Amino acid sequence: MSQPLSHSDPASSLGPFLPHPALAEADPELAALVGAEERLQAETLRMIPSENYVSSAVLEASGTVLQNKYSEGYPGRRYYEGQQVIDQVETLAADRAKAVFGVEHANVQPYSGSPANLAVYLAFAEPGDTVMGMSLPMGGHLTHGWGVSATGRWFRGVQYGVRQDTGLIDFDEVRDLARKERPKVIFCGGTAVPRTIDFAAFAEIAREVDAVLVADIAHIAGLIAGGAHPSPVPHADVVSTTTHKTLRGPRGAMLMSREVHAKAIDKAVFPGLQGGPHNQTTAGIAVALHEAAQPAFRDYAHAVVANAQALAEALLVRGFDLVSGGTDNHLILMDLTPKDVPGKVAAKALDQAGIVVNYNTVPFDPRKPFDPSGIRIGTPSLTSRGLRTEHMATVAEWIDRGVGAAGSGDEETLAKIRSEVAELMAAYPAPGLPTA
Ligand SMILES: *Cc1c(COP(=O)(O)O)cnc(C)c1O
Repeated sequence: MSQPLSHSDPASSLGPFLPHPALAEADPELAALVGAEERLQAETLRMIPSENYVSSAVLEASGTVLQNKYSEGYPGRRYYEGQQVIDQVETLAADRAKAVFGVEHANVQPYSGSPANLAVYLAFAEPGDTVMGMSLPMGGHLTHGWGVSATGRWFRGVQYGVRQDTGLIDFDEVRDLARKERPKVIFCGGTAVPRTIDFAAFAEIAREVDAVLVADIAHIAGLIAGGAHPSPVPHADVVSTTTHKTLRGPRGAMLMSREVHAKAIDKAVFPGLQGGPHNQTTAGIAVALHEAAQPAFRDYAHAVVANAQALAEALLVRGFDLVSGGTDNHLILMDLTPKDVPGKVAAKALDQAGIVVNYNTVPFDPRKPFDPSGIRIGTPSLTSRGLRTEHMATVAEWIDRGVGAAGSGDEETLAKIRSEVAELMAAYPAPGLPTA
């Protein structure tokens, strides 16, 4: 079993401290805000499935003087001099990405997941082309061709969903839609998909209609790196990922592919879409990938899934309705309709109780996206702090009491949960955070 991230981390043994003396001196107002956020992250049970706690090493790498450099271009082909070191940093990050994911090419420059996906469109489609992805309210991402996104305005987005009876993707529906609409690009993956993504099934459909298949693994990259979710690499033409979710790196993104697509992707990222890469982030990505290659990260990835499954079990026992009946990965989508508590009301009450989640649509949600029926929860952050399956019954109990208290406006119960949460979390510190 892996050690909690923090217990081997020197920063976490420092006790209460103000770790930003220069910031405190130069800008006490901002320093106070950072301190308040540190306390919030320390004391709460953070269950937003796209969030995590990075290591002290990643924090340090992301805050270095690499910040000071401009490096438009790629290693060995820059538009600026002085890149002797930066070239090595970027090459190291890309080589580590190739090793961790088993890909031929990795571009580590995209500023974040959304621009990475935009670069994919730029590389493989023309404005007005048909593109296909999972619809946002069914669990997809804005950048998969949803209407309000540039990707849905500049391209003709057609969308698949999940079956109402199972909560699972219906590949007959996906195939029929692809045959009818002939998309240039097909996206698979999403932001609220609690089940294993069948990359092979998507690949078969993409091949049949001659579409470029993009596996967007933003949420599950860490699980894939740690062997806790199948890899899209044998199946997808392009793999797009953020680096800051389960992969536990700095905020950034990567595009990976076989060599044959390398040039198109690189050209699309720079000069197609971006200027200079964020070198301090590239350094942090390199560190995160180094960490992801260690045996401890395999343990982490498997613990994330084990925790989510234990939590799903405990929630089912308490009568909660989970979309698709449970989870294969790090996230759980809860439909609160049977509890008669709207998602936003529940999310706000849980926040008051020190449990941070987000309200979320559920498939076929009769309510509006800004006031939907569900909440989305996940285990990457709490697993990074060292919580294990034995804690999940307690977490389920807190959520149950919190949702109950949300319905009845019982502030006292919420305050009581908050102090219980803070007490448990105090025993599981995280890098860069005050311990008391
Ligand atoms: C988070 C996410 C993105 C976007 O990443 P940002 O860094 O927030 O722009 C794209 N696709 C999927 C599936 C995501 O989960």
